[in-house]
Amino acid sequence: MDCLFCKIVEGVIPSSKVYEDDMMLAFKDINPQAPVHVLMIPKMHIDSLDGVNAENLPYVTHIFEKIPAIAASLGLDKGYRLISNCGYEGGQTVGHLHFHLLGGKKLGENIL
Ligand code: 5GP
Ligand code: ZN
Repeated sequence: MDCLFCKIVEGVIPSSKVYEDDMMLAFKDINPQAPVHVLMIPKMHIDSLDGVNAENLPYVTHIFEKIPAIAASLGLDKGYRLISNCGYEGGQTVGHLHFHLLGGKKLGENIL
């Protein structure tokens, strides 16, 4: 399978890692939209939020379990935003489930 983020997990494509364990990887977005912009991905390939099921859910919950510590390590003590774009109309451009962790400044109050 030709998946950009699987290649980042495998180390074939380099990334600036901020956290890694056996189930997930967090790395800096190549085109940051905020002073802190990190992508958190499961090491298991899941296409998007639409691909979450009972079998792979532990990989998703693991990411959520780690968010507070990752946010703290990035200095996001005043808050942050979590986004997951799903599918074409959701604006997803990479077909491997990922959560954008954004912060480091006062973000706008609108979603769009
Ligand atoms: P999406 O649009 O699918 O929600 O988010 C994909 C994100 O991946 C974008 O914010 C984009 O900047 C980021 N991205 C795309 N290619 C690379 C890459 O090769 N390395 C890193 N670190 N980020 C990437
Ligand atoms: Zn993948």
